[in-house]
Order: sequence, then C-alpha cells, then structure tokens
Amino acid sequence: MANILELPAVGECTIDGCSYNHDHACGAGAITIGGTPGDASCVTFIALDAKGGLSKQVAAVGACQRADCSHNDALECAAPSVRIGAGVDDPSHADCLTFAAR
Ligand code: SF4
Repeated sequence: MANILELPAVGECTIDGCSYNHDHACGAGAITIGGTPGDASCVTFIALDAKGGLSKQVAAVGACQRADCSHNDALECAAPSVRIGAGVDDPSHADCLTFAAR
C-alpha cells in the first residue's frame, strides 16, 4: 500500500468551471474520486462563483472509491498520475480519464 508521499499527482484537469481549477491545473490539496461502476468522477469538483484552493498546485488523489479500476489498490490510486476531464456521459462532469476497468 502506498504512503502519503507517494499519492499520484493530478497531472492535468481541463474542467475550467471548477472553483479549484487554475489554467488546467487543480488547486485542491487532494481530490477524492467516486462515481458509479465504470464511471469514475471527481467528487471534489465544485462550481462556485469564487475560485479557491492552494496558490501552489500540488493536487494528489487522496482517495478513490472506484475499486473497479485496475489502478485501485485498497481504495487508493496506484497510477503514476491521473488526468481529469470531461465525462463522456456528461461533458460538464469531471471524470477521471485515467480510469481503466479491471
Ligand atoms: S486511475 Fe483509477 S484508481 Fe486512480 S483515481 Fe482514477 S479511477 Fe481511481
């Protein structure tokens, strides 16, 4: 099992409408991935009038509930990094594009 220093980085997030997004980077300290089987969504996504997050963009995947993803190990992400972007089901939805079904 990975330790906190090995959490995968959010390499890119193209969801401009999220309050944590700055120039296609995520400003949250860590994100959580949830969703439904086969559809991994970023549940940290929030669209508020204000922008927020850290000034330095170092977001990692802190937790992932998608045990049906081949990168998932004990409800943590073991991928080198992840990309977040528009979901195929709903383009306004932030999905983990690195999801790979087991
Ligand atoms: S790649 Fe898989 S395990 Fe990693 S955050 Fe995305 S859905 Fe979760």
